[in-house]
Amino acid sequence: ELRVTGLWKAFGAVEVLKGIDLHLPDGAFVSFLGPSGCGKSTLLRCIAGLEDLTEGAIHMGDRDITQLPSARRDIAMVFQNYALYPHMTVRKNMAFGLALNGMPRAEIDRRVALAAETLRIADLLDRKPRQLSGGQRQRVAIGRAITRQPQLFLLDEPLSNLDASLRVTMRAELAALHDRLGVTMVYVTHDQVEAMTLSDLVVVLDKGRVAQVGRPLELFHRPANLFVAGFIGSPQ
Ligand code: ATP
Ligand code: MG
Repeated sequence: ELRVTGLWKAFGAVEVLKGIDLHLPDGAFVSFLGPSGCGKSTLLRCIAGLEDLTEGAIHMGDRDITQLPSARRDIAMVFQNYALYPHMTVRKNMAFGLALNGMPRAEIDRRVALAAETLRIADLLDRKPRQLSGGQRQRVAIGRAITRQPQLFLLDEPLSNLDASLRVTMRAELAALHDRLGVTMVYVTHDQVEAMTLSDLVVVLDKGRVAQVGRPLELFHRPANLFVAGFIGSPQ
C-alpha cells in the first residue's frame, strides 16, 4: 500500500499541495481527477521522488521512502509527453534504464521482449521515436515502465494526445494490463468517463487538497461537498 501523510509542497511562496493524506491499497487502479492546476502532476512527481516535499511523508508498505532517490523507489512513471529518448531506438529506450542499473544483458533482453510482446510493439524495436505514431509512442513509454517491473505505476494523462477511438482502445489495454500485472496504478486524467470506467478508487483534488476519495459510483451518488458535486458530471 502507498501512504501519503501530511504532504505539503510549495514552489517559493506558492503553495501547490496543502496537506494531502492518501491511502492507496495494493493492486488498486486509482484515478486522480481535478481541474487544471489543482496539483495532480505535482502530487505524482512527489510520489515518484522527482520533487522534494516541503512537509510530510510517503510510505510504501512499512518502508518510509520520503528521502529515497527516485531511481531507488519501486515506482515507474509515464509522462504525458512520453519523454522518450529521441536518438535511441525503441529497444534502447526500454533497455537503457535497466542497463544503467547494472542489470545483466540476458535479463534486460528477456524483459524488453516480454514488454514488447505485451504491448504489441515487437516489430517496432529498431525504430526511433520519430518514426512512430502517437499511439505507438505511448505504448513504448508504457513498455519502458513495465520493464522496470515496479510495484507502482504512475501515469500522467498518458492518453491525452491520442484521438478519440485510439483512446478507447488504449483505455481497454490499460485495464487489461492492470489485471495482468496486478500492480497499483495511479492514473491522472481530465476525462471523467475514463476515470469512472477504469478505477477502483477516484481521488478528487481541489486547489491542492483532497476533496473526496471514493469508488466511482459513490462520487456520483454521495458527493462529499459542493465542489465534488459540481465537478463530477460537469462538461470538461
Ligand atoms: P493540469 O491538469 O493542467 O496538468 P495539474 O493539476 O497537473 O494541472 P500541476 O502541474 O501539479 O497541476 O500544477 C499545480 C500548480 O503548481 C500550478 O499552479 C502550477 O503553475 C504550479 N507549478 C507546478 N510546477 C511548478 C514549478 N516547478 N514551479 C512553480 N510552480 C509550479
Ligand atoms: Mg498535470
